[in-house]
Amino acid sequence: SNGLHFRPTRAEIDSDALRHNAAMARKHAGHCKLLGVIKANGYGHGAVEVAHAINGSVDAYGVAFIDEALKLRDAGFTQPIVLLEGCFSEAELPVCAHYNLQPVVHQQQQLDAILQARLVKPLAVWLKADTGMHRLGFSPDEVERVSQQLENCPQIASVTLMTHFANADVTHHPLNEAQLDRFNEVCARTTPARALSAANTAALLSSVLDLGDEASQWCRTGIMLYGVDPTDSATPMSLLPSMRLVAPVMAIREVPKGAAVGYGSTWVAERDSRIATLAIGYADGYPRHAPNGTPVWLNGQQVPLAGTVSMDMITVDVTDLAQVNVGDEAELWGPHLSVATVADAIGTITYELLTRVSERVPRHYK
Ligand code: PLP
Repeated sequence: SNGLHFRPTRAEIDSDALRHNAAMARKHAGHCKLLGVIKANGYGHGAVEVAHAINGSVDAYGVAFIDEALKLRDAGFTQPIVLLEGCFSEAELPVCAHYNLQPVVHQQQQLDAILQARLVKPLAVWLKADTGMHRLGFSPDEVERVSQQLENCPQIASVTLMTHFANADVTHHPLNEAQLDRFNEVCARTTPARALSAANTAALLSSVLDLGDEASQWCRTGIMLYGVDPTDSATPMSLLPSMRLVAPVMAIREVPKGAAVGYGSTWVAERDSRIATLAIGYADGYPRHAPNGTPVWLNGQQVPLAGTVSMDMITVDVTDLAQVNVGDEAELWGPHLSVATVADAIGTITYELLTRVSERVPRHYK
């Protein structure tokens, strides 16, 4: 593609909002270091562009795997990059060492590969303890041994001890404290001077977790950079939405009472109605399972989804809109309709909506 797009459907990315949110993360993190999590193409915003926008506020970047990291190196970023999924083969290790990519070591095969590798440059790693999420990481009683082995390995430049919370977004969830206790025990049994990392956005923003305020602590913030407070806090933070997903009205029709709209005829007009068809569908990342009634922002008010989401289009009930014309632009989420509201209506999370905006939706940066 030469970058020319005739279809007006687009995701507008607000670099100032990203910058503002990163500054908020920086403020909340105090003296802790900040890992800007920009995996999955910067939560759908464009990893390179997000990396540029938040550059001044973060100490390092976090991605899922090596290919995501190499795109950032290709774009000229020199900060450390943490690979949150770790490595999949030993072939990655010299590349990691060469480019200062810091894999998370979370299981024995990875550890063996690292201990057996012949690297010309030392490798910085993050050692993951499974304190209760039971997805990745060494069990708490293995961590001391693993950490010793890494420490004794001349090819290891540094070890950052980390864990991940399963319920940090729920303030009083009992597992939060249990995970924190286990992490603190593990930390106490390993070298005290070691760098540590427990907090994602929710743990950073919630008050239940005392994360300390030390330069040796890393906060790994993702979703707040994109303007979303994932906690159940009653006092939401002043974060700014970083994505506005826009689609034009491409057709308008009157449907009589009793007529059905869309595949499967799931929406039936309860009155004589006006239906607007918008140029965005599940192939663009708007979820097919969005139910009738899911809000869409159009001409200054919310209008409800009316009919099953198609591959390239959705239909909304605009009977109550004073005015609507072909070419008017709807906001699927953004400053007027938060991605959190839409995610709630659809029964998913903001993360999924943002990361699934597909490649065929051009990103417009401002
Ligand atoms: N740390 C790890 C290990 C993660 O997998 C993620 C994202 O899922 C994050 C931090 C960032 O989480 P959040 O976007 O909730 O801040």
